[in-house]
Amino acid sequence: MRLPTPTTVHSEEEPHKIEKMKRVIRRIKFESELDLNFGERVADRAYGQKLLSCIQCGTCSATCPLAHYMDYTPRKIIAMTREGFKEEVLNSLTIWLCASCYSCYVQCPRQIHITDVMYTLKREAIQMGFHPKRLPIPILAQEFYKRVLKDGRNTESWLLVSLYLRTNPFIMLREAILGLKLFLRGRLTIGREHVKRRDQLHTILEHKKGEAPL
Ligand code: SF4
Ligand code: SF4
Repeated sequence: MRLPTPTTVHSEEEPHKIEKMKRVIRRIKFESELDLNFGERVADRAYGQKLLSCIQCGTCSATCPLAHYMDYTPRKIIAMTREGFKEEVLNSLTIWLCASCYSCYVQCPRQIHITDVMYTLKREAIQMGFHPKRLPIPILAQEFYKRVLKDGRNTESWLLVSLYLRTNPFIMLREAILGLKLFLRGRLTIGREHVKRRDQLHTILEHKKGEAPL
């Protein structure tokens, strides 16, 4: 019996595996690939935060209650933002996990308002469509904002339906019984709620165009 040589292909999948193993992936970026104005832009939009004054002491990361779950710690986010790692920062989970507890800001020896920086990064990520596609947090923020813009009020039942449709419709089926119970106890409305003079609201918003947060 002839023994297979090490290069023998045993199944259709193996050529793919071998190709994958052969592929060399570059894990660093060249300066030409960075967005060098990104840090300045974010600092301006975050009410002029002085990102360059960050001394990378790591106090913000040490004090952050959610740092263990983040893909980049707050210290790294500040460093990457000012160096122009736009895609990595805007695609990160960190900005969406930030719970706005302000602990980092209170402890920062340079008084950098990291929470505002995180908010600015969230807005940038939504505007540029960078956030992870089915991550509920940015979608919830978008849908909430859309409803308030349109009606001046938010209707929870409608918000939940649009959230589930854009993230995972199966959860809607799972939660249907709970929704029904809440409805029967008068805790959930089905009809769309809105302010009386929506026209006035829309006129105000028209004047504020360009300042919209999302
Ligand atoms: S605590 Fe302030 S100075 Fe220290 S790394 Fe964080 S942002 Fe920079
Ligand atoms: S504001 Fe955000 S980044 Fe700062 S400590 Fe709280 S959760 Fe962490």
